[in-house]
Amino acid sequence: MGNTVGIVGGGAAGMMAAITAARNGERVTLLERNDRLGKKILSTGNGKCNLGNERLEAEAYYTGRPDMLEDFLGRFGTEDTISFFQSIGLLIKSRNGYLYPASEQAAAVLDVLRYEVKAAGVDVVTDFKAESVERGRRSKLLQVYGKEGVYSFDRVILACGGKAAPKTGSDGSGYRLAEQLGHSMVPVVPALVQLRCREEYLKSVSGVRADAQISVWFQGKRAAQERGELQLTEYGISGIPVFQLSRRVNYILAGAKKHAEVEVNIDFLPDYTEEDFRMQCTGRRLLQGHRTVEEFFTGMLHKKLMLLFIKLAGLKSAEAVSGADERKLARVYELCRCWKLHVIGSNSYDNAQVCAGGVPLDEVTESLESRLVPGVYFAGEILDVDGRCGGYNLQWAWCSGFIAGKHHGGSGVMQSRAPRGKGQVV
Ligand SMILES: Cc1cc2nc3c(=O)[nH]c(=O)nc-3n(C[C@H](O)[C@H](O)[C@H](O)COP(=O)(O)OP(=O)(O)OC[C@H]3O[C@@H](n4cnc5c(N)ncnc54)[C@H](O)[C@@H]3O)c2cc1C
Repeated sequence: MGNTVGIVGGGAAGMMAAITAARNGERVTLLERNDRLGKKILSTGNGKCNLGNERLEAEAYYTGRPDMLEDFLGRFGTEDTISFFQSIGLLIKSRNGYLYPASEQAAAVLDVLRYEVKAAGVDVVTDFKAESVERGRRSKLLQVYGKEGVYSFDRVILACGGKAAPKTGSDGSGYRLAEQLGHSMVPVVPALVQLRCREEYLKSVSGVRADAQISVWFQGKRAAQERGELQLTEYGISGIPVFQLSRRVNYILAGAKKHAEVEVNIDFLPDYTEEDFRMQCTGRRLLQGHRTVEEFFTGMLHKKLMLLFIKLAGLKSAEAVSGADERKLARVYELCRCWKLHVIGSNSYDNAQVCAGGVPLDEVTESLESRLVPGVYFAGEILDVDGRCGGYNLQWAWCSGFIAGKHHGGSGVMQSRAPRGKGQVV
């Protein structure tokens, strides 16, 4: 009989760990607090599940130990993700390198995982919330305690996620389990989340989407920059580039004094050099100088934005450009290139896609085993690894789940039912 392994958390990383350990001959019990496995997977990728990325690189992640992360990703990368899912029946397609199930249904990803968990002989216990993990005094086994009872195992994998989207089950209790075992914690903040701004007038441009370059400034220094589709909301800013910036902003705000603000500068015309832009403005003046201010600026940016900028510059839409204050006209141009907003915080964990921070990689071995409590392993978001948008977070869940799952006693070779050649996408 193989070792017994208890996996706490039946999300992406937990299910991958369970399948891998069971294929390696371990007796696996998967403990999940919800009444079913993998609830979060259903909401990923807007219901389509971006499960990986063909351009896998350590630079797409944040962690205190990029060297270790690179090694982990080298041991289970995109090809392995594709092979694994094909081996359990999922067709995968690539959209510009972003991997999705061919059906574009996140439910398909969850279904094939659930079927394989069953086929691999994993014992699934739902409605069990682990409250502590301790080494038994006599048996030396690791014991997982919950209100519903206690389970004993040779080894335990903590795959409880972080505390993003707590409705799906990951409420931060995994961090507490790790801390009870003596682990430290890289401070946790919401990441891949919308940012809230002080400017109340944003309501008038809510719903506008535009390509933009967004720079984060704090105490006179540029801290980060992203380009992509910005979405304006009534309380602040959203969209992929904002999501990518949010972890940096949240760390700055977490370390700053109360009521500190981070400034965001938005350039709506990032493809224009200053020179080109100045020439455009001069040309516009020559050709359209006879118009009203609103007519004059029409066609430069989204109409709602232009009307807002005209107002912010202190101009009236109906006044003639020929008689308008030159400094105010110049101010409108300036706002197109550098609109300053003040970020006061982000939306909460309820809206975040992931958490930045967690159990430091320094405290685990190359097998993701705890350096403090042998026999305890970690997988997924509970660790101090978070990725950019684009399938990187699920890739980390599959990769870390595989490594933690395969470690103990087995051959270390994953036994897939399909031949494990080079992964293919349709
Ligand atoms: C809306 C949304 C969209 C996303 N889209 C994408 C995407 O398209 N691509 C991508 O790569 N990533 C995406 N992510 C991020 C990705 O889903 C997560 O990084 C990934 O699911 C983390 O996997 P995990 O197994 O570590 O944690 P989770 O998926 O959170 O699973 C943890 C599991 O542990 C259980 N649990 C927690 N505590 C306990 C306990 N004490 N006892 C028992 N069980 C417990 C939870 O109920 C849960 O089932 C998205 C996230 C969200 C919220």
